Amino acid sequence: MVPFKPYFLGEVKPPFDRATSVQKCVRTPDIEEVGKTTRHGTFFQMCGNFSFGDYFKEGAVKLAWELLTTPQDKGGYGLDPERLWITVYQDDDEAERIWHEVVGVPRERIQRLGKKDNFWDMGVPGPCGPCSEINYDRGPEFGAEGGPAVNDERYVEIWNLVFMQYERGEGPGKDYPILGDLPSKNIDTGLGLERLAMILQGVRNMYEIDTSMAVIDKATELTGVRYGDAQASDVSLRVVTDHMRTSVMLIGDGVTPGNEGRGYVLRRIMRRAIRNMRLLGATGPVVKDLIDVVIGMMGQQYPELITDRERIEKVALAEENAFLKTLKAGTNILDTAVSDTKAAGSTVLPGDKAFLLHDTWGFPIDLTLEMAAEQGLSVDEEGFRRLMKEQRERAKADAQAKKTGHADLGAYREIADRAGATDFIGYTDTEGEST
Ligand code: ATP
Ligand code: MG
Ligand code: MG
Ligand code: MG
Repeated sequence: MVPFKPYFLGEVKPPFDRATSVQKCVRTPDIEEVGKTTRHGTFFQMCGNFSFGDYFKEGAVKLAWELLTTPQDKGGYGLDPERLWITVYQDDDEAERIWHEVVGVPRERIQRLGKKDNFWDMGVPGPCGPCSEINYDRGPEFGAEGGPAVNDERYVEIWNLVFMQYERGEGPGKDYPILGDLPSKNIDTGLGLERLAMILQGVRNMYEIDTSMAVIDKATELTGVRYGDAQASDVSLRVVTDHMRTSVMLIGDGVTPGNEGRGYVLRRIMRRAIRNMRLLGATGPVVKDLIDVVIGMMGQQYPELITDRERIEKVALAEENAFLKTLKAGTNILDTAVSDTKAAGSTVLPGDKAFLLHDTWGFPIDLTLEMAAEQGLSVDEEGFRRLMKEQRERAKADAQAKKTGHADLGAYREIADRAGATDFIGYTDTEGEST
């Protein structure tokens, strides 16, 4: 929705009052959840509808309800209205009233949540507002009752309606001042396509929907591990599936693996997928086979994946090759570091080891975290980040020195101070003969 920001702020007049979209999303902070919860991917597609000063709360609520609950043969998704639970922002009486009085949701299925869940902003000064979410009750086999406020796996969130009406200022987290009203009241919603598919296809988790299950199947074929046999291998299979989808979508959009920014996001995700395939028992390269399945599943919606297949494969295979070259040696280094740490009576792997693994052996930090955790250790992430920062600063200083032609002469000065003045005798004397 970032391109719409100037419309929300009233800086640019939108060429239309309403819009709908499907956004490709990559959410790296959710990486730890992947495969463990049933509903988080690092890649997902978010369907949305937008109003720029056109319909507002009541309009958005009615549209969402209609789409979700209208029977399938009449063009809706046919969800059972009794299974839908609503959350509203803690003091949004108006939203609660609309859900109850206009739509008819019983009050006991409407819950109020605080800023963390139900007040939305872009993470920077700009538009913001309270939101209201629609959640689907998947039934007692997913745990205790009590609504989304107490069990977000059973009552899975599918759609977030944001009532974008205020402008926020600077401040950390959710601690920012509201500067005032936006020039118009707007709507921005996000409906998770894979989560909706999970419900409509009647599968237990997001990785088992049709377009993802084919990747799980390929991974089981390549490793001989059966899906459903054990919790640990199931998590690995889901991690592989999610991460390969994300990798293909990122490379398709022009990202290449690297050590900074977007490139590093891709590298982390790809390497984690490859390593999980090893955990499952794969010994050779696996990326090409997995990519082919992802492209087969996603190519119809994103034809650029098909036309760009060769480039995508080339980028991915190069990354797999590079990683497989260092994976074994890096794993040995990590194992030694883990034993040393344990022998010293500590449970925290030192930051310099994580840095060495990153710098010399191409182990992104998530991988080190995951591998250390498997052996019962945490990692001194702060120490790791400090070393990373120091390295970046050194690189910056070097680049600056190259640009200005002024290298840091400190080291030479130190030697000169130690050795004292010297005479150059190279014109008259040489040591040995050159050939
Ligand atoms: P949750 O509380 O389940 O983590 P969220 O509140 O972080 O979800 P939003 O930021 O409100 O999610 O995003 C809008 C919609 O996008 C969600 O209602 C959900 O359907 C979908 N969504 C969000 N994160 C993910 C994810 N990691 N994988 C799949 N779908 C997601
Ligand atoms: Mg979330
Ligand atoms: Mg949420
Ligand atoms: Mg949400």
